[in-house]
Amino acid sequence: MNRVYNFSAGPAVLPEEVLREAAAEMLDYEGTGMSVMEMSHRSSAFQKIIDTAEQDLRDLMAIPDNYKVLFLQGGASQQFAAIPMNLMKNKVADYIVTGQWAKKASQEAMKYGKVNIVASSADQTFSYIPDCSDLPISEDADYVYICENNTIYGTKFHELPNTKGKTLVADVSSCFLSEPVDVTKYGLIYGGVQKNIGPAGVVIVIIREDLITDDVLDGTPTMLKYKTHADAGSLYNTPPAYGIYICGKVFQWLKKQGGLAAMKEHNEKKAKILYDYLDQSRLFKGTVEKKDRSLMNVPFVTGDADLDAKFVKEAKAAGLENLKGHRSVGGMRASIYNAMPIEGVEALVAFMKKFEEENELHV
Ligand SMILES: *Cc1c(COP(=O)(O)O)cnc(C)c1O
Repeated sequence: MNRVYNFSAGPAVLPEEVLREAAAEMLDYEGTGMSVMEMSHRSSAFQKIIDTAEQDLRDLMAIPDNYKVLFLQGGASQQFAAIPMNLMKNKVADYIVTGQWAKKASQEAMKYGKVNIVASSADQTFSYIPDCSDLPISEDADYVYICENNTIYGTKFHELPNTKGKTLVADVSSCFLSEPVDVTKYGLIYGGVQKNIGPAGVVIVIIREDLITDDVLDGTPTMLKYKTHADAGSLYNTPPAYGIYICGKVFQWLKKQGGLAAMKEHNEKKAKILYDYLDQSRLFKGTVEKKDRSLMNVPFVTGDADLDAKFVKEAKAAGLENLKGHRSVGGMRASIYNAMPIEGVEALVAFMKKFEEENELHV
């Protein structure tokens, strides 16, 4: 067996320890004589899995008691509709558009009410985070929406926007559990887990209780109503049980690593290795404003599309996989989520140095 360093933006690398544990439990989970995949979601064994997962997530993020944790399906993209359907009481919301995911979310919300784009970085291909200290927040906005870490472009809000008292809603898909977070600053935090937590198929919603009501938009499907899932402890229907089980294992792994403060330190150390190299390279350069750089997704280019393609191909042959940038931007992108070991980033930088030497004539 030969594991590669997988720099995919998602689904993405998982801790090897977690995969090994899951493999060992595959045929007989804790003496039940069956796999978690084969188990009733109403069984006591599964109830313990989901309860433990929720408690570990609450511990990691210090989630206050007046927030519910929901394990849902439909990916982050389904939340683009669920959020307005549940939260648009005045049918008005303010969106800050810092990339494709926030743009898609805003476009979906437009189906349900009035959407004001109060800030955007589209003018410079989303290579920065706009100043959000004094935005024209709408008086009747039901919420202000951000995508906190822009997976495709590699930017991150290092400071949350001033919402002037309005509820903040954040898509944290690609920075989930990468650093400590003050949950009380948000009304709703959500993310697909396939970037930084677990396998595709689970989306986690952390929502303040007062936002969970029966007062949803007419026609909201039962399955898209937060109250449905909150009242049923995420077991209204069959949940993505195996995915939740793996997420639970990752939460325990994160606790063992020292929690989110330790992860932040680790992630900063990893990202610094790559950014420091990019900042002095004659061949490669980072594509975003330094102050807005993401710790998770690092896009870079050579400036020559053929050379980029050559790099991606040779990197793959060297065991460094999935470095091609998103199809909408080209170039390269290294996603260095929680589970990417520091050795992976070191191997990438060593390879980039070698490639730079071999291809200097191009510069
Ligand atoms: C990947 C991603 C999405 C889309 O997730 P799906 O689960 O595929 O719907 C949304 N937002 C962000 C920030 C992402 O990185």
